Amino acid sequence: MPSKTTPRVLVVGAGFGGLNVTRSLASAPVELTIIDRKNHHTFQPLLYQVATGGLSPGEIAAPIRGVFRRDSNVVTLLEEVEDFDLARRIVKTSEQELPYDYLVVAAGATHAYFGHDDWEPYAPGLKTIEDALEIRRRVLLTFELAERQAISGVADEPLNFLVVGGGPTGVELAGMLAEIARHVLAHEFRSIDPSRARIILLEGGPRVLPAFPEDLSRSAEEQLSRLGVDVRTNAMVTLIEAGVVHVGNTKILAPVILWAAGVAASPLGKKLGSPCDRAGRVLVQPDLSIPGHPEVFVIGDLASLQDKSGKPVPGLAPAAMQEGKFVAKTIRHDLEGKPREPFHYWDKGTLATIGRNAAIAQFGRIHISGFIAWLSWLFIHIFFLIGFRNRLLVFIQWFWSYATYERSARLITGKTTLPGWSGMHPSETENDKFPAARAG
Ligand SMILES: Cc1cc2nc3c(=O)[nH]c(=O)nc-3n(C[C@H](O)[C@H](O)[C@H](O)COP(=O)(O)OP(=O)(O)OC[C@H]3O[C@@H](n4cnc5c(N)ncnc54)[C@H](O)[C@@H]3O)c2cc1C
Repeated sequence: MPSKTTPRVLVVGAGFGGLNVTRSLASAPVELTIIDRKNHHTFQPLLYQVATGGLSPGEIAAPIRGVFRRDSNVVTLLEEVEDFDLARRIVKTSEQELPYDYLVVAAGATHAYFGHDDWEPYAPGLKTIEDALEIRRRVLLTFELAERQAISGVADEPLNFLVVGGGPTGVELAGMLAEIARHVLAHEFRSIDPSRARIILLEGGPRVLPAFPEDLSRSAEEQLSRLGVDVRTNAMVTLIEAGVVHVGNTKILAPVILWAAGVAASPLGKKLGSPCDRAGRVLVQPDLSIPGHPEVFVIGDLASLQDKSGKPVPGLAPAAMQEGKFVAKTIRHDLEGKPREPFHYWDKGTLATIGRNAAIAQFGRIHISGFIAWLSWLFIHIFFLIGFRNRLLVFIQWFWSYATYERSARLITGKTTLPGWSGMHPSETENDKFPAARAG
């Protein structure tokens, strides 16, 4: 299978999957190239902290080139992969064609608006550092515009923040927005009262965090309510316009609308010409290769696989990391002439954070809620942060903001206009029932 010279391994994507394949092969007798359209690895589980001004981008991302600076057989390329020619064993980027002996595609997932891509400008999702900065901009700017409006005596606009989607990202965003409004900004404005802002979480299904057992979902909903989040289940969004969300016949005004309702696999999956599932994830074989091409592997959020036990491997960071290490081992075995083995996912437990002292966790049959779950979430996520420096910085930052409610990265960068600010017509909507956030 490999060429007669040193085998060339090409890894597409430096997320959790790609980084782990490359790291695990760094000492192997192979030429490694890792390609990403960004120059950094993003620790996505902490993106919501950047989106809400708790952490700065550099604390949750690491330059890929820096990660591999000591690995002389690793070449890092900043390029966008566009296509593949599996017959010629070529990866096509916008700039060039790159040959490989082994290809590992770990391009992850992206937002899905279920055929309504026109909603995206009004309801951004959270996947990249750029997304997080845009969300931060919108959230902080809304309070500023409300204060300005209150001072100038113009009629108040309702200070609503609406999160669509009750999965882990939606829940953590809603919880953190509530903390910002109720505590962080509570005493900083003179003409509005940020603590009167409404945080609304819309979930189309009957419960939030549906991937967790029912008792934990219930607990998450209670913890959200305690933080001041208005949770609405069975609320299917039918239309999103600038500053307005329609749920059937009900219109809800919100200057900030955040989308956390769906993900779809990277479009690169389909370019491999191999069968995909409905979400566009590539159906991989037990060794994570694609049918007919033992030299091509797909891992992480882009891969669809049922474990030995028949359960689908989840789209989570630990799964992508384990798959990355497994593929590295498989390539080593190939080179040593050893047989391949099937991948087995080791589920070490699943956690979701909700807000300060609020989280849920499932470790097998053990279900935990509240402070202990939150503490476990915090330590696990800091432990997995790339680089010791980042771990230490994040820990200090977190401790400080826990003790003081201070969020140090509250910068508004970029434009100072909001798509949802001027297009509102309060009298037409259910917001008539809600007081605006004017102080006093
Ligand atoms: C907001 C958020 C919160 C999350 N929270 C958690 C959590 O708490 N716990 C947990 O376990 N999981 C969490 N996840 C899921 C977890 O981040 C993913 O399962 C994991 O990142 C998947 O790893 P991956 O390597 O498959 O893809 P990714 O980590 O997404 O990496 C894909 C890489 O491919 C690159 N890429 C994509 N297309 C191209 C292209 N055409 N050319 C070149 N490069 C390309 C991207 O730039 C990216 O660097 C969260 C995800 C998000 C978005």
